[in-house]
Amino acid sequence: MPDVFSPAKRSDVMSRIRSSDTKPEVALRRGLHRLGYRFRLHDRLLPGRPDIVLPKYRTVVQVRGCFWHGHTCHDGHLPKSRHDYWIPKLAGNARRDHRNDRALRRLGWKVVVVWECECATREKIFRQLRRVLRYLDMAR
Ligand SMILES: [Zn+2]
Repeated sequence: MPDVFSPAKRSDVMSRIRSSDTKPEVALRRGLHRLGYRFRLHDRLLPGRPDIVLPKYRTVVQVRGCFWHGHTCHDGHLPKSRHDYWIPKLAGNARRDHRNDRALRRLGWKVVVVWECECATREKIFRQLRRVLRYLDMAR
């Protein structure tokens, strides 16, 4: 188990979450990797091919774009046109996510969902990283 966030390590990891890592998944991956965690990406053998798979901890991290995955932060911010297309489409995505997460949990995996809107700044990404680490701690 890597040393979880001594102050020095913490600032080291923080400094490596660059502002150019705007993609939450990339930033989280980089942070986990820097802390010594090893993972697989988009494991085809698991329901829904989860984004980040940490087999040793039987934990997956799902990093979700708020629009495509129908996060509540987007309620009332749908595209102006083609509502009859978008509403069922996005609802279908959310249902599928739900189904996959449930299937994973049934197989004994812990599922951590991280939303894009929760990763808008470096500090927020770091907060999510710490959240993920708490799950990994529990899974030890
Ligand atoms: Zn959101």
